[in-house]
Amino acid sequence: MKVLIIGDGISGKSAYNFLISKGYEVEFAKEDDINSGNKFSKEKYDRLFQGLSFALVSPGISLDNHLVVELMRRKIKVIGELELGANAISGDIIAITGTNGKTTTASLINFILSASDRNVFLGGNIGTAVTSFASQTTCEDISVLECSSYQLETVRKFHPHIAGILNITPDHLTRHKSMKNYIKAKYNITKNQTQDDFLLLNADSDMIMQNLPKTKAKILFFSTKQKVVGCYIKNDCIYFNDNQKEKKLVSLSNIKLIGEHNLSNILCAVLAVYLETGKVSYFSRIIDFQGVPHRIEFVKNIGGIAFYNDSKATNIDSTLVAVRSFKANINLILGGSEKGYEFDELFKALPPNVKNIAVFGQTKAKIYSASQRCGYENIYKCNTLKECVNLCYKLAKSKDIVLLSPACASFDHFKNYEERGNVFKKIVKEIASSEDSLFGTKKET
Ligand code: ADP
Repeated sequence: MKVLIIGDGISGKSAYNFLISKGYEVEFAKEDDINSGNKFSKEKYDRLFQGLSFALVSPGISLDNHLVVELMRRKIKVIGELELGANAISGDIIAITGTNGKTTTASLINFILSASDRNVFLGGNIGTAVTSFASQTTCEDISVLECSSYQLETVRKFHPHIAGILNITPDHLTRHKSMKNYIKAKYNITKNQTQDDFLLLNADSDMIMQNLPKTKAKILFFSTKQKVVGCYIKNDCIYFNDNQKEKKLVSLSNIKLIGEHNLSNILCAVLAVYLETGKVSYFSRIIDFQGVPHRIEFVKNIGGIAFYNDSKATNIDSTLVAVRSFKANINLILGGSEKGYEFDELFKALPPNVKNIAVFGQTKAKIYSASQRCGYENIYKCNTLKECVNLCYKLAKSKDIVLLSPACASFDHFKNYEERGNVFKKIVKEIASSEDSLFGTKKET
């Protein structure tokens, strides 16, 4: 039993250990072979694929890669790590997908369920490979899996008991080629569900409502705007309605997550947990959920100015979601590495409470040009993130927000968005301690 693994990231390495423990002979495809743009000779493919039971392709590898294309042409099974791991899971699977909000929602489900007496595992696209824990699960356990479109592209038997689709907006189109393919990949989440399963859909998403998935599962909805069969908000509480009777599940007062988008994530999480457990007692935990680091994460209040880290906002949509989450005036930090898009859409949609912008990084000139085309004046070019933070702090008035929500990837100055967010938090803490030692608190009025 021989397996070829294409891609040696977190999931590839975990799949390797998993397969070895099951007695497979496992090989990684060579980096040069993966990246070679050219097709190989028949003899070379014969050698590479000889005796394979199946191949495992990492989510980062496109299905257009010549190795994958040739494997499929030869009808050798190609699966992903999600499929391999999920097939080995005992107990129910709750799977979450969507363009935005997956990590927050899956983490919240995990957080709520950790109050239950069942073991809960959290994995998938969230950085913990499914094969790293699948063998430990028992039929009483619950596995909460964050699923990306890349992972769902290759599923065959993947069968979550509860599947949630948060939203679908254009993303990853270079890889999927069209919106149709992207939606199709996401909808694979319900491909093997049966009438005993549940599919949770966001009724506020036009893209989902206009392209409802074909499914055998029972569909339930969630909405921040209207009463639906499923979960919705009334009088600042979440209600559940199964078409027979309405039941109050939890109050939303005192929750720490900010923004309408997070209400949507909470609704999906609450609906999933309620369907899985039938209990409301766990929901009181929601008020303790602080969110996930780097997603509109509160850092510190210095003399009446609140600093938020939204380093995960690596595209225009997520930055807009972040700025719409605040009523107070915002001093915004933008900029990072180039992704190939213009920023006019951002400036056209920017709400008036974004009072100042400090911009840095590879996209600085592009962002600045877009701001001038759109008539946005209070924008300042800086050389580093530190300069941006210091400038925003200087410009901010009491009760203002300083928000890092860059609308760009981080690879120009940082290893990844986590490092960028951590550097931001460090700079803020430095400001706080210098204020403490020099002046006491500032701008108190
Ligand atoms: P994902 O795992 O899908 O990337 P995250 O939970 O990590 O999603 O959130 C990433 C960013 O996406 C957040 O900083 C926020 O700005 C935005 N976001 C989160 N939830 C939603 C949502 N339900 N709708 C739209 N945008 C969202």
